[in-house]
Amino acid sequence: MPVDVLAISAHPDDVELTCGGTLARMKALGYRFGIVDLTRGEMGTRGTPEIREAEARKAAQILGAEFRESLDLGDGGLPIGRESELRVIDLIRRETPRVVLAPWPDDRHPDHRRAGQLVTDAAFYAGLRKLETAHAAYRPQLTVYFPTFDPQGTPDFVVDVTPYIEIRRAAMRAFESQFHKPGSTDPQTILSQRDFLDMIESRARQHGSLIGVEFGEGFLTKRPPRVDDLVKTFSGFEPGY
Ligand SMILES: [Zn+2]
Repeated sequence: MPVDVLAISAHPDDVELTCGGTLARMKALGYRFGIVDLTRGEMGTRGTPEIREAEARKAAQILGAEFRESLDLGDGGLPIGRESELRVIDLIRRETPRVVLAPWPDDRHPDHRRAGQLVTDAAFYAGLRKLETAHAAYRPQLTVYFPTFDPQGTPDFVVDVTPYIEIRRAAMRAFESQFHKPGSTDPQTILSQRDFLDMIESRARQHGSLIGVEFGEGFLTKRPPRVDDLVKTFSGFEPGY
């Protein structure tokens, strides 16, 4: 069974921290989605790949993913050569998603940057019939980008995730090893600072405020979304813009 949306990122937890609410919303609308981590996050300061794998599986279940898998391409220097490209091309052909989600290819973290570029290129190449892999040629409609750590300016569109905020929170909390745990002797990282999840949530509030809702997830695209109802689209927030 094909998926409608395929979220591909560099590390287990990237998707949950950026677009988990959107995926939960798509699920509620009856769409099918999968999550693919390009690496196992083995260079991460905290947790082991095994712990992160178990956490990632749990988070995917909470969000309602059809599947989650890791291509294990190598963390901390994600390779984007032909070999990686062919893996991602074949994955896209196998799942035939209509929309692919990937990190914005100008992110601060080089692995996010590379993941964004790799997925964008693979989504295009996947449509070339003469490029043979195990599955038939297929090209998704669009790659949509989620900003990971950097604010990346004003998003091109925002998804209202207010009704799904508890699911989003629960999926994030599944990554216990990465976040603040009182009494933990693991080295501190940005993620494990006490207020990191608050910071992530304040971004969801800030994105939400742009469209007049409590929580939103902002995205960037190379093509603007089609708007069917101008009045409805721009209703519900502070007038005067
Ligand atoms: Zn990451």
